[in-house]
Amino acid sequence: MSTTFLSVSHWEAVAVRELTPGVTAVIAIHNTFRGPALGGCRMYDYGNSPFKQLQALEDVLRLSRGMSYKAAAANLPLGGGKAVIVADSAKFAGPAREALFAAFGEFVESLGGRYITAEDVGTKVEDMSWVRRRTAHVTGLQESEGGLGDPSPLTAYGVFESLHFTAERFLKAGPAALTVAVQGVGKVGWNLCKLLREAGYRVIATDVSEANLQKAREIPGVEIVAPAAILEADAQILAPCAMGKVLSAESAPRLKFKVICGAANNQLESEAVDRQLFERGIVYAPDYVVNLGGLTLVQQELSEKSMDLARRNTRDNAIQGLREIYDLSAAERLPTGAAADRVMYHRFHPAL
Ligand code: NAD
Repeated sequence: MSTTFLSVSHWEAVAVRELTPGVTAVIAIHNTFRGPALGGCRMYDYGNSPFKQLQALEDVLRLSRGMSYKAAAANLPLGGGKAVIVADSAKFAGPAREALFAAFGEFVESLGGRYITAEDVGTKVEDMSWVRRRTAHVTGLQESEGGLGDPSPLTAYGVFESLHFTAERFLKAGPAALTVAVQGVGKVGWNLCKLLREAGYRVIATDVSEANLQKAREIPGVEIVAPAAILEADAQILAPCAMGKVLSAESAPRLKFKVICGAANNQLESEAVDRQLFERGIVYAPDYVVNLGGLTLVQQELSEKSMDLARRNTRDNAIQGLREIYDLSAAERLPTGAAADRVMYHRFHPAL
């Protein structure tokens, strides 16, 4: 059984509150050097055992720290935070759900703007409307309330630009000579396949959802393979756009791709895999830099609300971040995942 170590002195604040009888929420503020700590509110049933419940704490700490790195990568005036409501989302509907999110809104308000919330796994854009009745420190709103809508197309655009930049730098080849294997054709993967095909890349895609595969077949030229075949696909580039930990001790030794660049969060199972890929000469484009478009859009809801600016910032920040990471990686023979963490850490701890 594995043990996780977190140096908890690095977090600025961790707050706990009972929202309604028996439902606890935890908010973690990791770092606010760049600005208020932004991060979604996850609602998840961790189970009844004390060990499982403490995993909620581990999750909120780890995820809030990840948001500090992502905000720094996106060059936004934001820090890293996260909230977890420890309850089964499916069991709350109607007035009970409304009361829960109103109480959560009060919890967010009590932190005076140091934490800004949004939807995440288990919570919906509609829930944020209830939160908004009690606090202004919420984003990810419905378009009717001033939100900018689904961030997935912008996330896909950032992945596309990152992939293009990485391919030009390391493969010295253009789209006509390159094949991309896309794992997962959901909201981001579908948009990515479309952009890649329009640019002239050959695209091989997969998904476990027949409905989503059907939609992908409608993009001219996308070739479909079985989910189990995607990691062996005859392609130079892998774009993970499904779940995390796809780059593992088990998969890394058999990958034949030259570049890995996709939207999925937490693609690396461990630091050891980061090093293994580096030593095998496989370029891993760090996920939280590649997928910064989603956060960039969310932040635009808090500022200019300009889609054009969000697009430009997504492209410029992803490419600038990757350039710095690849340069540091080459100069110090550092795996790219570790290089990314070092570059971004200095953006929210500039004195160190
Ligand atoms: P989604 O749920 O719309 O799509 C994920 C797709 O992956 C689904 O179609 C699902 O069927 C498929 N899938 C799941 N397991 C699979 C497997 N084993 N093999 C093949 N396909 C599989 O999610 P999304 O919004 O497109 O996000 C994709 C990834 O990108 C996630 O990891 C998400 O956290 C990350 N991400 C998304 C955004 C965004 O703006 N949506 C932003 C940042 C990061």
